[in-house]
Amino acid sequence: MALCEKNVADYCQNKNYCVPLYLLSVKDINTQTFDNYMDIKENISLKAYNTFGIDAKASMFVEYDTEKGLQQLLESGLLQSNPFLILGGGSNIVFANDYRGVIVHPVNKGIISEKECHEAYAGQMQGGDNPDMDSNHVFVEVAAGEVWSDFAWAMTRKGYYGLENLVEIPGNVGAAPVQNVGAYGVEAKDVIAYVVAYEIETGIKRVFTNKECKFGYRDSIFKNELKNKYIVFSVCFMLSKTANSKTNYSALSKMLSEKGIATPTPLQIAECIAEIRGEKLPNPKEVGSAGSFFKNPMVTYSELEAIQQHYPDVVSYPIGDKYKLAAGWLIEKCGWKGRTLGNAGVYPKQALVLFNNGGCTGNEVVALATAIEADVESRFGVRLEKEAIIIN
Ligand SMILES: Cc1cc2nc3c(=O)[nH]c(=O)nc-3n(C[C@H](O)[C@H](O)[C@H](O)COP(=O)(O)OP(=O)(O)OC[C@H]3O[C@@H](n4cnc5c(N)ncnc54)[C@H](O)[C@@H]3O)c2cc1C
Repeated sequence: MALCEKNVADYCQNKNYCVPLYLLSVKDINTQTFDNYMDIKENISLKAYNTFGIDAKASMFVEYDTEKGLQQLLESGLLQSNPFLILGGGSNIVFANDYRGVIVHPVNKGIISEKECHEAYAGQMQGGDNPDMDSNHVFVEVAAGEVWSDFAWAMTRKGYYGLENLVEIPGNVGAAPVQNVGAYGVEAKDVIAYVVAYEIETGIKRVFTNKECKFGYRDSIFKNELKNKYIVFSVCFMLSKTANSKTNYSALSKMLSEKGIATPTPLQIAECIAEIRGEKLPNPKEVGSAGSFFKNPMVTYSELEAIQQHYPDVVSYPIGDKYKLAAGWLIEKCGWKGRTLGNAGVYPKQALVLFNNGGCTGNEVVALATAIEADVESRFGVRLEKEAIIIN
């Protein structure tokens, strides 16, 4: 039975997914035992597996491309007895040092299902108590190891609305709910119906509804109380067959009107987004980076007023009862844009992006980030929080 033909209750109650564990240590693992479903390598370079291009090494590197492979990995006990890191496209990660543990790299591919109606999940979408359950919507469940942008372009080309603003974000599908990726006014949480994940400790498969994922700004339950507890196996998106795009982001609406497009198709929007992103952000194939290195900080009105006294042109956006500051603007005002420290640098076109200026180490990136954080705090009294994840 296809995954999506079950409802939440079926998943949660199905004890067949609960497998007994037996523990092994890294040295005890006989890599031949798992050849059918997992690929295990030892002491390999991670340079090709992180978009910063940092040449750190991993003690062990495990790939699987099927659900059976993931189940086998969890049954092996490898993750229960060793430090581990789940690595998607490595586009939000900085390896500060060699990784002494198991890197898990899911490469399961494909569209698992595409359905017009999915009553079990639609009513649980965040922000909408009961979205339309007519044939205007389609539920597409996709494997975690798919490349995010390829999937977003594929859906957009099919004429489905929902992912057009999110094309060209590097990384894999499995990280999208973990990170709640977002760009140009849209976040993954706006279109995720549910997430299928395996609990690492027990091997039990569970479905998380949109609400259960507790999405926030680049945040989710998988980065907080369930950090390192689950591996995302697949993600189901609720996309629309009728126009519902968000085009009010200023650079996007300006480009659409310059091109004379009044009622854009999802593909036209995606093409504009790709053009806009290309102007500001480094292409990971050419320049090593982790995208936006810092989150945009939130401040209170009185904190904003204090900054405005010295910097009336500070860039801010009201969000609820707080104000979001543009971290890139703060970094630029501190004079960091285009500067380098060792082999790490601040991208000349966008100060929010730190980049690899050639053979840089993770420690050089961390040193640069620390220097920037100190400058921003002493000048503006604002503490920057890293969006990129530093792995020590
Ligand atoms: C040039 C550039 C531009 C970027 N632009 C954007 C942007 O516009 N918007 C945005 O939101 N982000 C952006 N990013 C950041 C990055 O692309 C996203 O955070 C992306 O979701 C990371 O995906 P990944 O597969 O590379 O995850 P990784 O970097 O490999 O991992 C990120 C986190 O997710 C966890 N994880 C990964 N896969 C799984 C899984 N299957 N199960 C459980 N946990 C998992 C990892 O353990 C880690 O904690 C950009 C990055 C770059 C380099």
